[in-house]
Amino acid sequence: MSKEFKGGGLEPADGVDFRAQAHRLLDACLNQLENASERPWQEPPEGLDTRYVIAGEGREVGKLVDQITRDVLPYHGGNTHGRFWGWVQGSGLASDLIANMASSVVNANLGGRNHGANEMERAVVDWTRRKMGYPEGASGLLVAGTSQATVISFQAARLRVLKDVRLKGQGDQRLTAYAAAGVHNATRKALELLGIGAENLRLVPLRGHRMDADVLAQMVREDRASGALPFLVVGTAGSVDIGAFDDLNALADVAAQEKLWLHVDGAFGAWTRIADQPWRGLTDGIERAGSIALDFHKWMYVGYDCGMALIRDEAEHRAAFAARPAYLKGADSGLAGGEPWFTDYGIDLSRGNRALKVWCALEMFGEVAFSDAITSNCQLAQLMAQEVARQPRMRLGCAVISNICVFTARDDLSPAEQSDLNAAIARQLQDSGDAVFSTTDIDGITMLRAAITNHRSQPEDIIDAVACVAREAAGVNDRGEIG
Ligand SMILES: *Cc1c(COP(=O)(O)O)cnc(C)c1O
Repeated sequence: MSKEFKGGGLEPADGVDFRAQAHRLLDACLNQLENASERPWQEPPEGLDTRYVIAGEGREVGKLVDQITRDVLPYHGGNTHGRFWGWVQGSGLASDLIANMASSVVNANLGGRNHGANEMERAVVDWTRRKMGYPEGASGLLVAGTSQATVISFQAARLRVLKDVRLKGQGDQRLTAYAAAGVHNATRKALELLGIGAENLRLVPLRGHRMDADVLAQMVREDRASGALPFLVVGTAGSVDIGAFDDLNALADVAAQEKLWLHVDGAFGAWTRIADQPWRGLTDGIERAGSIALDFHKWMYVGYDCGMALIRDEAEHRAAFAARPAYLKGADSGLAGGEPWFTDYGIDLSRGNRALKVWCALEMFGEVAFSDAITSNCQLAQLMAQEVARQPRMRLGCAVISNICVFTARDDLSPAEQSDLNAAIARQLQDSGDAVFSTTDIDGITMLRAAITNHRSQPEDIIDAVACVAREAAGVNDRGEIG
């Protein structure tokens, strides 16, 4: 049934062989997927870079599949493994495999026009809008991740106070934005990129891990009195360090009173919206925000990359980006139809198909499986805290709020010794393949940090991993050196 390809040197020379080799690679990929929890990160071997050097001479597909199986599949970043809790990374889903196969042959450009992939992105935006409690007609765009969604959201927020900014720039207006101390660097970067300047990000002090809303209101008034133009408050739903959540209702109240745009950085934490209580309650009030930035590639487990900017008011979203030169003119029907076009809502003109992998994930496993996995990840963070409490010389950096557990392996050492020891243990367990922790600094001590956004993690993984930390810490002398 296979036909010969037409297209000269850029098509497979032998269609029958190509099909056989593609099936072979598919099997290798399925094997990798099925055994994900037996394949932790491993250090790339010496000279891997030279194996990747491009000869550019053309090769048999079978040779290529051999090399991909040998030199590409094994050297992943570790986040597909069940004991990976470093940083905040998603674990990837089997549905990605079928979604990516289909999307690679369709090769859709979702900048606009009239084809199925755009409708699917609209369905994904609509599903997300409902989960976040936004009204019908709210607007959204799939992007590379929360960093990009933040830039898009802030530009829409800026348009609200500076209607002419697209034409005239900011002039000598000094816009100011507000966020809790500990806000993710994506906020700072977005303000830099938009020419607002990182110094115009005011860090509001915390009260019990949350932005102090009273101090926020006071800072806004003082800035306004000094001639600044306060325009934006960034609420954090899930801080990277400890998984803390601002009181979004309190921030929405201040935003309404002071006429600020409330943006929520919900990169991973926005998804507590679909978790069980008490975690669901952490994002109460998110539906009052002007915009939300969130990721599918973290706590929705979907493969990289995939994030979303959600903007409550479609007209404000569109006003910030719509621009259509003559050669991109739309039409009422035909291929140039399909309005509205996604290119009018963001930075990119050409856009890949991120919608299909989200759609496949939700349709293959069902929403409840995601709710359960997110709830389970929070329970595992609590379990880790209990295991830490059982170890006489370990200590939590702070109480677990959501899915992140931070602790020190030996609180009987000096802060500097603990820092060195925790960093050494993180490294040691990464190298041995036992578990991946990252580190963060709490009260001047570098601590071990597990951010659990991994649907493959099981209770025994948590118990074993803490035991591994205890084993490493036990072999330490009283100067904190691993023996
Ligand atoms: C990961 C993260 C970001 C950045 O998101 P990307 O998808 O990596 O661009 C922003 N804020 C928070 C809280 C994050 O965890």
